[in-house]
Amino acid sequence: MGAAVSLFARHALLPQGWRRDVLICWDAAGELTSVTDNAAPPDGVELAEYVLPGMVNLHSHAFQRALGGMAEKAGSGPDSFWTWRELMYRFAGRITPEQIEAIAAQLFAECLRHGYTAVCEFHYLQRDAAGSLYARPAETAERVVQAARLSGIGITMLPVLYSHAGFGAQPLKPEQARFRTDADDVLRIVEALAAQRDGQVEVGCAPHSLRAASIEQITAVLAALPSERPVHMHIAEQQAEVAQCLAATGRRPVQYLYDQLDVDARWCLVHATHLAADEIALIANSGAVAGLCPTTEANLGDGLFPLPEFIAAGGRFGIGSDSHVSQSPVEELRWLEYGQRLQRQQRNIAATPQQRHVGDYLWQTALQGGAQASGRKLGALAAGCRADLLVLDDAHPNLCGVAVSDVLGSFLFCGNDNLVRDVLCGGRWQVRNKRHLAQDAIAASYKRTLARLRAL
Ligand code: ZN
Repeated sequence: MGAAVSLFARHALLPQGWRRDVLICWDAAGELTSVTDNAAPPDGVELAEYVLPGMVNLHSHAFQRALGGMAEKAGSGPDSFWTWRELMYRFAGRITPEQIEAIAAQLFAECLRHGYTAVCEFHYLQRDAAGSLYARPAETAERVVQAARLSGIGITMLPVLYSHAGFGAQPLKPEQARFRTDADDVLRIVEALAAQRDGQVEVGCAPHSLRAASIEQITAVLAALPSERPVHMHIAEQQAEVAQCLAATGRRPVQYLYDQLDVDARWCLVHATHLAADEIALIANSGAVAGLCPTTEANLGDGLFPLPEFIAAGGRFGIGSDSHVSQSPVEELRWLEYGQRLQRQQRNIAATPQQRHVGDYLWQTALQGGAQASGRKLGALAAGCRADLLVLDDAHPNLCGVAVSDVLGSFLFCGNDNLVRDVLCGGRWQVRNKRHLAQDAIAASYKRTLARLRAL
């Protein structure tokens, strides 16, 4: 690792927008110590043209990276999320902790290369193949954290509360036995992970959904979890889930959740695809983050989030790659915008009178929402935040001669080459010249793992 603790950017995206001649300094602990614009470059400092804060991937099930491309064949009837889930269950039934680590390391290295510098891992594969707890209760969670350390990405580990197969406390199915946790199990795993917490690692929790966890269980976990830790939950991803919630409770999922619990800014509501008008207002007014996963939601045929209405209500959102059919924030943000354009037959949807550049609006807004959902100090090139940044490839034709105000537009909406050249995460360069420093070893381990898993 080089000794460099500073970088000089001709153009850097600060919280207030693009600024010129920015000197960025960080310390050995991986925290930004100063960010100064209109500065002069000190002797010997590394120079960069365009520097952005790294993106947060606020929703990940890392092991699902290994499923990519395996569920793209039509069945005999209409396929849906629910048929995809059967394949995922079969795959999840076989994986060992070592394999979980190898898959997660590959995923995280890919995420870093494409511009994510933090991930929130919604971790539900917590028991062994027989459905028993491991001798170390946080065995698989520790493996994913270890993969994050190996790749260098920052992580918020969210052990999942998963007790039921459906509304009304339906018993789990045999293929869900590896996921089973009650409130005490989750708190034990959170406790076991306490020693992992540092500048790069935080620990929160994740009630899986209103289908899989009761209000009483969620209340018990939240009562024991420190109040600043993040809480994530899937909600209203599927029309069938909304119908089941209505049948069981008389309320739609978001209405029911807000009726029952005090949902505030520590919460991240993942998907929130199917919302009534009053539910949009509930989420926006509570300060909770909507966790949007456009490529997975498209892949699973979930539906489209009501983005313009949510923006108009002042809602906060971030992006996640969820099932990892994509590992690129460019693709998530592009499809977040394109879904709305196709549906509404309009252009430039994700913008406000204050920020009319769609790329700038999407990057900055998704970053703020992701940072909030991570529960970590990051999300801006500003003193006190993690030193997580991207250097774009200014020699690429897509960035030649563009105005600074169009850099993010070109980054997000032009072509498929990866324009992320270098990535600094927690004050360490993990990607140089578009290669992750441990890429070869991580990929070799991943390929060995996939060969074994697919031979089963
Ligand atoms: Zn998910």
